[in-house]
Amino acid sequence: MATLIDGKAIARALSNTTAQAVAQMVADGLPTPGLAVVLVGNDPASEVYVGRKISQCAKVGIHSIEHRLAADTAQDDLLALIAALNADATVHGILVQLPLPAQIDAGKVLDAIDPAKDVDGFHPVNVGRLSTGTGGLVPCTPLGCMMLLDTVIDNYRGLDAVVIGKSNIVGKPVAMLLLERECTVTVTHIATQGLPDIVRKADIVVAAAGAPELVKGDWVKPGAVVIDVGITRVNQPDGTTRLVGDCAAHEMDHARAVTPVPGGVGPMTIACLLANTVQAAQS
Ligand code: NAD
Repeated sequence: MATLIDGKAIARALSNTTAQAVAQMVADGLPTPGLAVVLVGNDPASEVYVGRKISQCAKVGIHSIEHRLAADTAQDDLLALIAALNADATVHGILVQLPLPAQIDAGKVLDAIDPAKDVDGFHPVNVGRLSTGTGGLVPCTPLGCMMLLDTVIDNYRGLDAVVIGKSNIVGKPVAMLLLERECTVTVTHIATQGLPDIVRKADIVVAAAGAPELVKGDWVKPGAVVIDVGITRVNQPDGTTRLVGDCAAHEMDHARAVTPVPGGVGPMTIACLLANTVQAAQS
């Protein structure tokens, strides 16, 4: 039976560590870490994510400042807000919730964030630092994936890792982190040919495709560790919906360890955001 990697418990432990770090900073007379969360428009999923991030900030003692802008906000107005947040010494982290409305170029907005406050790790400077292994702020979901892997893998050196998905927010950064640990990394995507056979060679599988149950049990080598990043809400025959990962969870008994969906990678993402905010405040 595969070990179930309990993302909820690991995220809770990380948040406890973050809360202790915040308390220590305050006790030392340092400023309370501050996170500005910018939400443009009223996408329902984004509202839920932003609400969760803000409530988790409160739990660990991070001061969060919410900026809600109308869906028709002009790009220049958003850029002006980012400039003001960059200049505000009480703000240590800036998070712009994606997606942004069509009139706004998300790339331009992310590029405008001070890299030292870029707690999502999406700024080209932080992407460059990650790819050169020179520190910086690391994107939250990939960072969370590595923390989950660390609970079951001591030595990554020479392991075969296959990443499914090449997005800038998950696939590519997680590949960089695995490469840094000296795994042999294969990054696959929608146009990859022979994906099942590529996955069969892997000691570590990180699935971040957003394709429900794409990875079948017989794609996974016995003893492999499987990190399932995908989350898709699918309709059930009885009219209800449920969250499904990228891996056929019920076919993974022969794996060494797997992450559940929900309760695996998901909780780690916010916990890593809080940890990144404290890192930004301390640097
Ligand atoms: P994305 O759409 O930006 O990228 C998906 C990637 O998967 C692409 O590179 C695409 O080529 C590849 N892909 C899609 N279908 C594939 C297939 N059938 N075979 C092989 N490759 C395929 O998505 P993303 O933002 O990277 O997110 C991926 C998934 O992870 C989504 O389900 C998303 O909801 C989830 N996610 C979860 C968290 C979390 O906190 N748990 C965070 C971010 C993303």
